[in-house]
Amino acid sequence: MMAIIDGKALAAATKAEAAQKVQALREKGVVPCLAVVLVGENPASQVYVRGKVNDCAECGIESRSIHMAETATQDEVLAQVRALAADASVHGILVQLPLPAQINEKAVINAIPPEKDVDGFSPVNVGRMQIGEPCYLPCTPAGCIRMIESTGTDICGKNAVVIGRSNIVGKPAAMLLLEKNATVTICHSKTKNLREICAAADILVAAVGRAGFVTGDMVKPGAVVIDVGINRGADGKLHGDVDFAAAAEKAAFITPVPGGVGPMTRAMLMLNTVQAAARQNGLA
Ligand code: NAD
Repeated sequence: MMAIIDGKALAAATKAEAAQKVQALREKGVVPCLAVVLVGENPASQVYVRGKVNDCAECGIESRSIHMAETATQDEVLAQVRALAADASVHGILVQLPLPAQINEKAVINAIPPEKDVDGFSPVNVGRMQIGEPCYLPCTPAGCIRMIESTGTDICGKNAVVIGRSNIVGKPAAMLLLEKNATVTICHSKTKNLREICAAADILVAAVGRAGFVTGDMVKPGAVVIDVGINRGADGKLHGDVDFAAAAEKAAFITPVPGGVGPMTRAMLMLNTVQAAARQNGLA
């Protein structure tokens, strides 16, 4: 019997967990605060930022939304990030990507101090994750792990296959699965025998960015399938990387798109922000 992993319900539970922690911090006089910096008018980015601000409100986290002009210079953006870095009432800083072409994304991300890097994208956080030290886990892969564990699946010793090797999803997802003692294979655009490798996966994480990339024959019977892909189809609807109907016939558990990894990613950001506030006040 296949079961759908309900990302919305899990996200709601995760946000409730964050809200409880916020309450405990507020009782100690700490009000967690997330600053979100948006540069320019990218419509998708505007939607994401609004979502994050709403999530904060839902969890009792304060938010500061800073909207800079499309024409903002590198120095202006850096100055803004540095001001937030120096502001003790701000615990998490998130710069919404992508940034306009005149701005060096790396330089901006590097200006976020590691203790406020709630996206977990800065080199120090990535390094800490790699060696298993306390850090902020990148929200999408950390959400994937929660979703897998929500099924009662013990990741230890399982064959896990991640399709995609981006710095924000594929690589950290593989690393977190390894941390949980899975035997991990990373597939990418140059991988040979991708079908066979995927078909042997007990846990399959698809982060490719191509609608319907994972077909039914690539899914092992009884597998846990996590679909990270968000692809806007010609029909205007969102589609995952997995052919859901075909995969659902084989999988034991599968995430839908929409309503799967997306909401969970947002919820994980709330947990990271709460953690940041606790750590910066010596309460974690
Ligand atoms: P990316 O483009 O940076 O990386 C895609 C990866 O897929 C690359 O590593 C590439 O090697 C691999 N790939 C491409 N073509 C392939 C092929 N034919 N065979 C095997 N591998 C191939 O993308 P990303 O940022 O990692 O995002 C992946 C998808 O996840 C996108 O659809 C994106 O929108 C989505 N996404 C969703 C969330 C969420 O919250 N749900 C968050 C981030 C990204």
